[in-house]
Amino acid sequence: MLYELLSGEVDMWEIAPLFSELLANTNVQFFRDRVKCLYPRDHLLKNMPTTSGPGGIVHLESGLAIEYDWLVLALGAEAKLDVTPGASKYALPFYTLKDALKVDEKLRDLERKNFCKDSPIRVTVVGCGYGGVELAATISERLGDRGIVQAINAEETILPNAPEGNRETALRVLSSRKVELLLGYVVSCIRKEVKGEIDDDDPANMVSVHNAATAHCPERIFLELQPSGGRDLQGQIVESDLVLWTVGSKPLLPELDLDDNSYELPRNARGHAETDETLRVKGHPRTFAVGDASALRDKNGNFLPATAQVALQQSDFAGWNLWAAINGRALLPFRFQNLGEMMTLGKYDGAVSPSFVNGVTLDGLVAHTARKIAYLIRLPTNEHRAKVGFSWLAKSTLDSLQNMLSKGLS
Ligand SMILES: Cc1cc2nc3c(=O)[nH]c(=O)nc-3n(C[C@H](O)[C@H](O)[C@H](O)COP(=O)(O)OP(=O)(O)OC[C@H]3O[C@@H](n4cnc5c(N)ncnc54)[C@H](O)[C@@H]3O)c2cc1C
Repeated sequence: MLYELLSGEVDMWEIAPLFSELLANTNVQFFRDRVKCLYPRDHLLKNMPTTSGPGGIVHLESGLAIEYDWLVLALGAEAKLDVTPGASKYALPFYTLKDALKVDEKLRDLERKNFCKDSPIRVTVVGCGYGGVELAATISERLGDRGIVQAINAEETILPNAPEGNRETALRVLSSRKVELLLGYVVSCIRKEVKGEIDDDDPANMVSVHNAATAHCPERIFLELQPSGGRDLQGQIVESDLVLWTVGSKPLLPELDLDDNSYELPRNARGHAETDETLRVKGHPRTFAVGDASALRDKNGNFLPATAQVALQQSDFAGWNLWAAINGRALLPFRFQNLGEMMTLGKYDGAVSPSFVNGVTLDGLVAHTARKIAYLIRLPTNEHRAKVGFSWLAKSTLDSLQNMLSKGLS
């Protein structure tokens, strides 16, 4: 629910509660630290009963070393900006809470600078998967007439892998908010103008300047677009005040040092931990891996999507299998149950395509509310759920009252 931070719909404590608070009344010991090194030893235990002997040691950045019997890897992934020249320097990722706060701060800064000016704030979103589309819809709603939002996608459609209903709803909302879609393009390079000059190649080499009317900007970012191959398109330059990058991710597992370079946890070409169906890392009887750090195929041979839906379902299975392994019981193979796909499209809009009702998509306020209720149900701990539920109810009551009042006055 990072998008809702940008729309002002939620507060940080609601969507990012502290582990120390959530785990306060449990016997889980929480260390706020970073794992630096992993010393797995369970691959050496192959001929011993799997429940005896240490499984390995993790070394934390603070210097602390923790010996473990069993390990669950849930390190997640991070944004991948290093594939396009200039992206890591001039584009902001939208992946973590910290990223969302930075984007919000940057938007506030632009809103302040452009206050009472005629020139619009130009925001460019790279990527039109769920992340890019939800971001473009939220920011275009926030900026209204004060901004121009452009969204770029390599495919010739947005949300290529989403249900038809979600795609159509998103297209309708984006068009109503005048989001400019640049489809069939890849960003080949991003650069910034420094004191009247472009800090990279000569812009004269570029094919055309898109919306050159924004020459007033003190800091101008230029994105060079090339056709991705399909239609007969020409390359172009897009000018922007803020570039948001939503394309690609990479697992954080390869960041960890392992004790012995000749031995590594089995990983696929993209760096995900390879597990068997029971979520155990191959060759490591005491190590489980879940979520975006791991890769598992479904029965058709396709990789499961890197979503919270998969990660949450895997965590239930991993918990059960951990208990089963310790107690010498049979482990269960993980089966993903796709419940459908939901998206927010701003404060009062959304799209929900539940998998259990074929071809049906909810949209508008109904979808937005249904999505919020689904998130509320999935929040951790009853106490947090109750606090957030009350807070959201109070906010929406206030919002409705404000709307009624402003309608009455106008
Ligand atoms: C903007 C955005 C919107 C999304 N929206 C949806 C959605 O609507 N629905 C959906 O199903 N999915 C969504 N996803 C995907 C979903 O967030 C991920 O699939 C899910 O969070 C993966 O869970 P995880 O536990 O594997 O990793 P994460 O949730 O990323 O958690 C990994 C944790 O490990 C920590 N960590 C990493 N390295 C170390 C280390 N060395 N030491 C200690 N800690 C470490 C990280 O700080 C992090 O807290 C979205 C993702 C993004 C970026």
